[in-house]
Amino acid sequence: MQTRRDFITALPTTGAAFAVAGANLLEGGPAAAQAPQPPLAGHFHPQGKAPSPHTIAVLNAARTALPFDDTRDFDEQKRGLIAPMTEMVIKADAGHDAWDMASFRFLDQEAEFDSIHPSAHRIGKLNNNYGLYEVVPGIYQVRGFDLSNITFIRGKTGWIVFDPLVSAETARSAWRLFQAHKGEGLPISAVVYSHTHGDHWGGVRGILDEADVRSGKVEVIAPVDFLDFTVSENVYAGNAMNRRLFYQYGLLLPAAPHGYVGQGLGVRVSAGTAGLIAPTRLVSEPVESFEVDGLEMVFQNTSNTEAPREMNTWIPSLKALWMAENVIASLHNIYTLRGAQVRDPLAWSKYIAEALYRFGLEAEVMFASHHWPRWGNARIQEILRGQRDLYANMNNQVLHFANQGVTINQIHNVYEVPKGLQAKWDCRGYHGSPQHNSRGVIQRYLGFWDCNPATLIPLSPGDSAPLYVEMMGGSERIVARGRELHEAGSYLLASEIVNKLVQAEPDNAEAKELLADIFEQLGYQQENPGLRNSFLSGAYELRTGIPQGEMVSSSSPDVIRAMSTELFLNFLGIRMDSRKAEGLRFTINLVTPDNGERFILEMENATLTNIAGFQAETADLTLTIDRADLEQTMMGAKTLEAQIADGTAKVEGDAGILTRLAATMVDFDPRFPIMPGTGARAEAVVHADPFEAVPEKIIAE
Ligand SMILES: [Zn+2]
Repeated sequence: MQTRRDFITALPTTGAAFAVAGANLLEGGPAAAQAPQPPLAGHFHPQGKAPSPHTIAVLNAARTALPFDDTRDFDEQKRGLIAPMTEMVIKADAGHDAWDMASFRFLDQEAEFDSIHPSAHRIGKLNNNYGLYEVVPGIYQVRGFDLSNITFIRGKTGWIVFDPLVSAETARSAWRLFQAHKGEGLPISAVVYSHTHGDHWGGVRGILDEADVRSGKVEVIAPVDFLDFTVSENVYAGNAMNRRLFYQYGLLLPAAPHGYVGQGLGVRVSAGTAGLIAPTRLVSEPVESFEVDGLEMVFQNTSNTEAPREMNTWIPSLKALWMAENVIASLHNIYTLRGAQVRDPLAWSKYIAEALYRFGLEAEVMFASHHWPRWGNARIQEILRGQRDLYANMNNQVLHFANQGVTINQIHNVYEVPKGLQAKWDCRGYHGSPQHNSRGVIQRYLGFWDCNPATLIPLSPGDSAPLYVEMMGGSERIVARGRELHEAGSYLLASEIVNKLVQAEPDNAEAKELLADIFEQLGYQQENPGLRNSFLSGAYELRTGIPQGEMVSSSSPDVIRAMSTELFLNFLGIRMDSRKAEGLRFTINLVTPDNGERFILEMENATLTNIAGFQAETADLTLTIDRADLEQTMMGAKTLEAQIADGTAKVEGDAGILTRLAATMVDFDPRFPIMPGTGARAEAVVHADPFEAVPEKIIAE
């Protein structure tokens, strides 16, 4: 089956695909002083430009300022290599490439690139590890098979797996490599999901037979409320998050020196089949200790840190500390650019401090679900203390400034990570950046408004922009000044005015081209992959538009099964276009006998609400369907109409209500325009059944 990700990877991303348009830019045009920079030969996009001298100066300054003589990360990253993976491509069961490491080898082939921030290049090289590693005898990791690592820990009877990657195919391939060298032919005896993000469970079906879980042979352990939060974080705003992933994760950018150079956490997210097997044991106490396949483990719940539900694990007999994704070789996201509720940096810091004092004082090895381990207690403490302070400082110092009047629109230009932490590689912004995280902290505590009434209920950008353009003297003057600012390397100023012009005149090709050039230079200058990808993706879409084509929902049936009925009903309230429901009024009793749930759904005031645990005395319609059958409808496998027609669902009352309700449901298309004039949208081509759940693809982080 084609997935949404397949569609994305099938896009033309080579220079050849764009070859026709390239030369036009050089012909005619305005006077030389104001001419756009010529395209760069060898750039993946025919309108792509070389890094400017200003950009090169920024990158050179970073080369001098950053602690490149501290190469301990490279020693740790290499340590314990048992076997490199020799096959560069891992095929998906559907036939396409689920994984292609060859496309990232360019990062190792040059000492430096003038279009990649040296620190971004550094983490890219570190993430190019690809093979099986020993952490300590009894703990092994396969790295570089996905955005995340998969870990194998020796239990009494078999292997305890921590975090089985995103896709079944990459997880299976990792298991094979492991078995070829270290697995001794022993089976998997338990699986631990460290947290709710998809890169920590999506590949489980590649290594585990669900029957073995059901029979109790293999325990699957996860933090409390795992299933609820696994699904809920991605559902309500799922389509918007999916669209924003194109920016944060640079989904349209080819792996290339002027394009995508990695995601900081790893090279990228694999494109195979994601699935989910529900956990059989939840860790619910703040700290809980029990044996897993004969090995004592101490689990520390760390709710509301990197994920809504997450846990660290201490293995006393091995003096080994698993920090899940709470401590990696980077500053993580407080605010994530794809969109999510802002995380709690103070809680995060305190959980790291607790891990330090509970386990870290005696730990001899520390490992995690991304990047590489740390060995030796001094090194572990150095990392834990730095990470503790990184999140605490971001919380405290940002609020310190906020309490002095610094706003969400200024803080990223005011807040700086303390110098001592800036000099630690693991505190660099390879996933979160100090800029977008500091804004996130203010958002968490104070929200979006800077308290200037002029920004309280502003006009929409497209509505105010024409006046700006008029007052600035029109399009030609803005382009000329924008180009001057661009030539001078004042890219942020240039983007301010040229963006206004693009907002006012979405069809102004010259303005869009200039704004793309500005974004591109800003992209090259970023250390943080999410910022780089966002600028370069903006440039890409301004130049090329949003690709069209058939898209198929990639929702995993397992994820839909994990959705509670209430969450599903809440989502229907979001899928419904309120404007199509004006004047409708009805009450539905929904009963799902197999799990004993009952709901009232009410349509009133053009709003669809539901309340669990209640039934209306006089409902217009009573719908009775087993939850197991309802799931078929949620997945789009069988319409509600068909369920009723064959008697699987029973209706009492006015069945026409369902038809009227169905008519209010709208398909979301994850290709809505972000930059003006990039749409050229075809009609929506994601067709969901009216009562389909359509959560978007699982989000890795
Ligand atoms: Zn992750």
